[in-house]
Amino acid sequence: MLQDRLYYAQPNCKRFTTQIIKNVQDEDGEPYIVLNQTAFYPTGGGQPHDTGTINDVEVIDVVEMNEEIRHYLAEPLEPTEQVDCVINWERRFDHMQQHAGQHILSAAFVELFDFPTVSFHLGKSLVSIDVKTSDVSDEQLNAVENLANHMILENHPIEVKWVTENDLAAYLLRKKIQAENEIRLVIIPNFDYNGCGGTHPESTGQVSALKILSTEKHRGHTRVYFVCGKRVLQQLHTKTAVVKEASQLLSAPEEEINQAIEKLRSTNHSLEKSLREAEETILQFEASELINTQKDSFISATFESHSIQQLQKLARFIVAKADDAIVLLVAKNEEKLQFVVAKGNLVNASMKTISAAVLPEINGKGGGNDTFVQGGGDALVTAEALVQLMKKSL
Ligand SMILES: [Zn+2]
Repeated sequence: MLQDRLYYAQPNCKRFTTQIIKNVQDEDGEPYIVLNQTAFYPTGGGQPHDTGTINDVEVIDVVEMNEEIRHYLAEPLEPTEQVDCVINWERRFDHMQQHAGQHILSAAFVELFDFPTVSFHLGKSLVSIDVKTSDVSDEQLNAVENLANHMILENHPIEVKWVTENDLAAYLLRKKIQAENEIRLVIIPNFDYNGCGGTHPESTGQVSALKILSTEKHRGHTRVYFVCGKRVLQQLHTKTAVVKEASQLLSAPEEEINQAIEKLRSTNHSLEKSLREAEETILQFEASELINTQKDSFISATFESHSIQQLQKLARFIVAKADDAIVLLVAKNEEKLQFVVAKGNLVNASMKTISAAVLPEINGKGGGNDTFVQGGGDALVTAEALVQLMKKSL
């Protein structure tokens, strides 16, 4: 019978002795054992499996399949009749807290707003439920969290009842139950009645606390992330460290972090603006210098680490003032060459001719039109050599 399983019959069983009744391999050749009796909870109902040891060998997975509970071990077990089994209680109790917390949170959503829970996930650090609503406000989340913590503080019993289909009418169930016999009801009296095969503590107080962390939209529903028990402290611990570091970095008290970030952003914004203006002034100045040193129809220059945007701006400034010039600008940025070629209004040639001639020399790619082209490639020749090649191409 289902209810005789040790993790149901003695939900607080942390250590037990039993016999191996099967020591075989599964369909994929992985060895597993089946015990006469087990307190190892197999993955199911949204709750992950237990871990622990069997005769000091680590249990890495517990799966219920073909009406048997398979214990997968880290290494083969010495043949023996009697085995000593230890449940990793920290992990199991954490699962019990999260799972019971989920019952309480789901019940609170229905109680206050009539949002039923459609799915549950117990993850390594976060737990989530999907509630049947496209939107939840912060006020609603606060109200639900308050009710859940109130139920925890009042320390209500969490009861388990084994019933059959005929008994179900007597209970106000949250969800319809499909099974016929051996139905396991998990009950928080006058608050929550649920069919559930998971493990839970004996009272709501053992959940200790519940904190909602965030929400996101998921397939038309709302996914609510939360934690219970020790995980609340872990979250607080992590977040406290983050806030403390941010506060130190910003030289601001913790409660003024937001204002400090706002201030930093606005300072940054105006600095960027001044920098753009200063850069433009320098480029204008560079443009005038280059025009003044012009000896023929070409105005050329090479740079170390000028961005393509800077080259473009500079070329535009020059042709705006020198309408009879062809501008050839090349920058070497690390192992790359980048160039911009532009012409003034009075020049007849197409700049595409120039880029088409030099791009193969640098394994490059480029684009543009007859008056303005840009491109880039590998620094297979020097920037100066590229300028010479450009001049020769016309
Ligand atoms: Zn449950």
